[in-house]
Amino acid sequence: MKSIYLDYAAATPLDPDILEAMKSYFTQEFYNPSASYGAARKIRGAVDDARAEVANILGSRPAEIIFTAGATEANNLAISGVMQAFPQGEILTAAIEHESVLEPASKYKYALIPVDRAGSIEFSTLEKMITPKTVLVSIGLVNNELGIIARLSEISRLIKTINQTRGRGGLPLYLHTDAAQAPSFLDLHVSRLGVDLMSLNGGKIYGPKQSGALFVKSKTKLKPIIVGGGQEFGLRSGTENVAGIIGFSKALSIAQSGRKNEVERLSSLRKLLIGRILETAPKAVINSSARQSSPHIISVTFPGHDNERLMIGLDERGVQVATGSACSAASGKASHVLAAIGLADGTARSTLRISLGKQTTEDDIKNATHILRQLFNYPITS
Ligand code: PLP
Repeated sequence: MKSIYLDYAAATPLDPDILEAMKSYFTQEFYNPSASYGAARKIRGAVDDARAEVANILGSRPAEIIFTAGATEANNLAISGVMQAFPQGEILTAAIEHESVLEPASKYKYALIPVDRAGSIEFSTLEKMITPKTVLVSIGLVNNELGIIARLSEISRLIKTINQTRGRGGLPLYLHTDAAQAPSFLDLHVSRLGVDLMSLNGGKIYGPKQSGALFVKSKTKLKPIIVGGGQEFGLRSGTENVAGIIGFSKALSIAQSGRKNEVERLSSLRKLLIGRILETAPKAVINSSARQSSPHIISVTFPGHDNERLMIGLDERGVQVATGSACSAASGKASHVLAAIGLADGTARSTLRISLGKQTTEDDIKNATHILRQLFNYPITS
């Protein structure tokens, strides 16, 4: 039985070309890039080139790119880094953020920005919540359970205005975005987005897991959370994961150059999928807004059905989907994202996340929905 993988928001397979580009850095080109002899300087050059490539894609300077071990670490560095630099400061973050944003934020004085039924932030609510002590607003670019896209450039305009009114004596106000789910679909140019900090991840874009970066706009004050050898401009000590850095930069470059085609292709697959789901289960509710969402993530509630049983039933028939984000699935708790958009606990427990990617085909969608139809013939009410 060929399995149908529909959980690309959790992990993507490594692109064979990327693996090929990484290989030699595990073996012949293993040198520590901080060593002084020629062979090591060559490796330093490869890391510098990868940094320049990422900077070029984001429209930033190379010195504004800090390579990290994935988005969790980048989010921790952004949040703890800024909050530790401003101990008197406060942070605002959206109620639907990933745990790797919410948990570090909860260590400081923080408040959660509410969202509407689609997962969008009300602009005027955010404006009211910002106090003179707010130093950081953290809002994900693409939510990993709903796919909703944040209107960051509007938010950044508000933040710019507030920074102007605060003047020289006041605290700065920074905007951070967790863009882990965005590179295959959205423009990541940092000045167009208007962000001061942006987290990225290789493992969601057909690159290696535990690779990624934090963009830190120059003059943004933050303290390192991993200290030691002073690598990555003193913001992330530790011998560089050279193969990971090479793989991440290549993955980001491929994701960004192919994004327009991928948006088109996945939008039409998404339409097909939603149409077939609604034919199969007319009472199903699609929680991902078609207009405002990334095309790869579809959150769907099947009222009266238990999502764990649906997921297991699909898995037994070769279809892999998620009951929520991989993290909330591991903890067994109902999703905080679905609670934030107003779903009752029982409704959240009837919800699946289906996510599409590069290898998803029309046949996959047809076969997966055919299997779902078979499954609905079983009396699986919770
Ligand atoms: N942020 C978002 C939006 C994610 O989807 C994920 C992964 O699920 C992460 C952060 C964390 O990424 P990682 O576990 O690879 O560090």
